[in-house]
Amino acid sequence: MFNIILFGPPGSGKGTQSEQLVAKYNLKHLSTGDLLRGEIAAATPLGIEAKKLMDAGQLVPDEVVVGMISSALDANPQVSGFLFDGFPRTTAQAESLDKLLKLKGGEIGIVLALEVKEEELIKRLLNRGLSSGRSDDTNEEVIKNRIVEYNNKTAAVAKHYAAQNKVQQIPGEGSVEEIFGLLSKAIDAEISA
Ligand code: ADP
Repeated sequence: MFNIILFGPPGSGKGTQSEQLVAKYNLKHLSTGDLLRGEIAAATPLGIEAKKLMDAGQLVPDEVVVGMISSALDANPQVSGFLFDGFPRTTAQAESLDKLLKLKGGEIGIVLALEVKEEELIKRLLNRGLSSGRSDDTNEEVIKNRIVEYNNKTAAVAKHYAAQNKVQQIPGEGSVEEIFGLLSKAIDAEISA
C-alpha cells in the first residue's frame, strides 16, 4: 500500500491534481472537503453543523473529519493506496491518521506540498467561485479566513511529516501538466527508492 498526502493551502490545486494522480497510480481519493460537501448535500446533522463552519472559513472539528476518514479507510480494504486531499489539516489529525494507518499495517509514503503565493491563491479561489457553486469561494473575507486557518493550524502538518523525512515541496504555479509531471516524478522516485 502506497499512501500519499497532497498538501497545500486552499486554492493550491490539490483537487485538480488529485483527479489525475488517482487515475495514474490507481489510488482511492479521499478528500475531506468533498466528503463534507456530500454530507451537506444529503442534509445530514453532521453536514448541517459543518456547513456553518465551512461558510465562515473555519475548520470542522478534528473528531468529525477523523471519524469520516476512519470510516472511509474501513470501507476500502482492497485498494492499492490512498491519496489524502485536504486532510490532515491539524497536527492532531496527522497523529490520528498515522495511528489509523498503522493499525492497517500501512503508513504515509510521501507528502507532496504544493507551494503557491497568497496573492495567486486568492485570485484562483475568487475565480473558482464564479463557477464552482461553492459559497466559501465567493467572499474574499472567507477566503482570507481559510488562509489564516491554514497558516495557524495546517502549516504545522508539514513540520509533523518533515520530522519523518517525508515532505517534498513542489512548485504549484505553472501549467496543470507541468505540475502533474513534477508530482509524478517525486512519486516515482519514492516508489522505486
Ligand atoms: P480548500 O482546499 O479549497 O479549502 P476543501 O474542499 O479542502 O477546500 O475544504 C473546504 C472546507 O471544508 C474547509 O475550509 C474546512 O472548513 C472544511 N474542511 C475540509 N477538510 C477539513 C479537515 N481535514 N479538517 C477540518 N476542516 C476541514
